[in-house]
Amino acid sequence: MKLKEIYGKGKDGKSIISFEVFPPKNGEEGYVDLFEELETLKKYNPSLVSLTYGAGGSSNNSFKLVELLSKSFNIMPHFTCVRSTRNEVETHIKEIENLNIENILALRGDIPEDKSVYKKDFLYANELVSFIQAKTNLSIGVAGYPEGHIDAPDINTDIENLKKKVDAGADAIFTQLFYDNNKFFSYVERVRKSGIELPVIAGIMPILSIKQMTRITSMAKISIPEEIKNNLEKFKDSPDDLKNFGIEYVSRQCRELLKNNVAGLHFYTLNKAYSTSKILDNIL
Ligand code: FAD
Repeated sequence: MKLKEIYGKGKDGKSIISFEVFPPKNGEEGYVDLFEELETLKKYNPSLVSLTYGAGGSSNNSFKLVELLSKSFNIMPHFTCVRSTRNEVETHIKEIENLNIENILALRGDIPEDKSVYKKDFLYANELVSFIQAKTNLSIGVAGYPEGHIDAPDINTDIENLKKKVDAGADAIFTQLFYDNNKFFSYVERVRKSGIELPVIAGIMPILSIKQMTRITSMAKISIPEEIKNNLEKFKDSPDDLKNFGIEYVSRQCRELLKNNVAGLHFYTLNKAYSTSKILDNIL
């Protein structure tokens, strides 16, 4: 099912749930574990499962996993273009379409430090969106940043750039994770003021560990509310209590988003079902 159809359904008050996973670090050996975690999450009827692409600069080839996942789920593979030539991009997106996959998350990706792998055929994601739109019938999701992208001078410029992706043919906006709903609400307001009418799907990440929180918030603009900071400190030697606090906090966060008619909740599962499923049990 295409993004337009999935999130069109949301307008009648249904909450749309989806999950993000990444290719296991140990390659095919890790597929069994990943499928086990997804089996647990299947009962929440995800509208789609998205699979990251080369996140963190890794060259982990995820194509085989895309194919396997597509047999059990409506899958939205991510794709980043900074390391690929036009021809390579064309081959990749056609292969995805040949698997009868209907959706793709079109991303620029982080500029690689090793300039020899930076192909520069596509400078920004809007160029990739136009290309996919011209070459395939895939429905296209794009990234949005409630607190602004890390390279953007300010949030308004970032939203002007988001509009370029929308005008190029995107069908839905999936946001960076956030823990302060007010940042998300004011982002959606600005997005609407800029004339963008597409669904904005909230990126939700369970709180699993101090290490995870430190890593993620060092890579992007993500505010950590005082309540979370205090509990990270309080439970620094008690990982289970931290996880339980995270489940309670993120459940509260999701309830408020649902109350405010969010188009969808996209869970960054980190390939672990436990916290995501507890949160879903709490909110559905
Ligand atoms: P763009 O939309 O191109 O934006 C990048 C920067 O350039 C922004 O600062 C923007 O304001 C600016 N900009 C955009 N267009 C223009 C323009 N035409 N002219 C001037 N400036 C412009 N990374 C991975 O490696 N793999 C993944 O699987 C992955 N999945 C992600 C999923 C989500 C939901 C999100 C939010 C991010 C994901 N990322 C992933 C991270 C993403 O690749 C990085 O944030 C990357 O730096 C930007 O990609 P983008 O598509 O948002 O780029």
